[in-house]
Amino acid sequence: MSSFRTLDDLGDITGKVALVRVDLNLPMNGGSVTDTTRVQASAPTILELAEKGAKVLLLAHFGRPKGQRNSTMSVSMTLDAVEDVLGREVMFIPEIHGPVVEQSIGILRNGDIGLLENTRFWTGEEANDTDFAKGIAANGDFFVNDAFSAAHRAHASTVGVANILPSYAGRAMEKELKALEAALDKPEQPVAAVVGGAKVSSKLAVLENLVSKVQHLIIGGGMANTFLAARGVDVGKSLCEHDLTATANAIMDAADAAGCTVHLPYDVVVSQEFAANPTSLRICNVHEVAENEMILDVGPLAVEALADVLKTCRTLVWNGPMGAFETEPFDAATVALAKTAAALSAEGSLVSVAGGGDTVAALNHAGAADDFSYISTAGGAFLEWMEGKELPGVAALSS
Ligand code: AMP
Repeated sequence: MSSFRTLDDLGDITGKVALVRVDLNLPMNGGSVTDTTRVQASAPTILELAEKGAKVLLLAHFGRPKGQRNSTMSVSMTLDAVEDVLGREVMFIPEIHGPVVEQSIGILRNGDIGLLENTRFWTGEEANDTDFAKGIAANGDFFVNDAFSAAHRAHASTVGVANILPSYAGRAMEKELKALEAALDKPEQPVAAVVGGAKVSSKLAVLENLVSKVQHLIIGGGMANTFLAARGVDVGKSLCEHDLTATANAIMDAADAAGCTVHLPYDVVVSQEFAANPTSLRICNVHEVAENEMILDVGPLAVEALADVLKTCRTLVWNGPMGAFETEPFDAATVALAKTAAALSAEGSLVSVAGGGDTVAALNHAGAADDFSYISTAGGAFLEWMEGKELPGVAALSS
């Protein structure tokens, strides 16, 4: 990862206009925000810039309005939540460029905060249109990106504006990039990766990248079934992508060639029906799965062996659950392995970084999230980073 500018590289910003890309794509229910984690993540950046005397204009997308104004997707719906978290009044500005923004800047005092309308109300955002980016940039003196979760998209508010104005990583972005660097770019060896979740097909590029970067690749979840089937195991009616047998074998061959050990479960939790605490639940060796059974979690012996693997490692990257963790008792392997990783992290022997989609929910469910070294709430961006891709929004901040 190349070096990037941070807020420490800013000079005197008194009276300057900071355009700050944040993540306000907040979960809502009945018109109210249900989780403010993303606002909390960027609060230090916003408040630091305000305290240093800048006029802070927040840029964010909300939902998928597809280039049109849509009152149900106005960023103003997040205004109360943003004000609550910041403990400050925030001026909503129902535009993104032009005279209304200019006039609003005239009203804001140094240290005040404004919230611009949904970047995706304009087609220029997702098209990364140069004129659109210039229109946004015209009202700012410098650009700060604090939304890692949007950094995999080359949009006007993540890349276009960054290419026009002096641009910097915000504190949340800085923390995220440093954590990710410590996990895969320059990790302490040995490194383990846990990759779970439903399907191999959605994480092919992740697996292909990891085999050359980690010493231990632990595969769990539904995707382990595809690998087991590729090794000739009869997985009954488990979720399995039989058409990916050749791909799974190629990944295992690439791992062998790179000196990466692939860990697949050798005992599993099976059931005839997918329901909580089913009567047909049993634990068996992978070779004993019956035709009418499905594998829904990694078994306890395998979990114990995997915990021993983690104990030999210095770094862990985790994406995806080990089983169908939303339904008890198929959360057992995810919970047990997450607890082991959390304990090793807490005692300082493991740097653990997790993220992407359901992973945060799974680790929260395990009560393990607090002890992980870093948890990324980014979904697509985290996975693209695990795929080894350079994220355009990050590249734009490089010095
Ligand atoms: P992903 O979004 O790819 O990380 O997949 C997460 C989903 O995979 C969760 O909803 C889990 O319930 C599901 N999952 C994990 N293990 C299994 C399994 N053995 N069989 C079916 N679904 C699973």
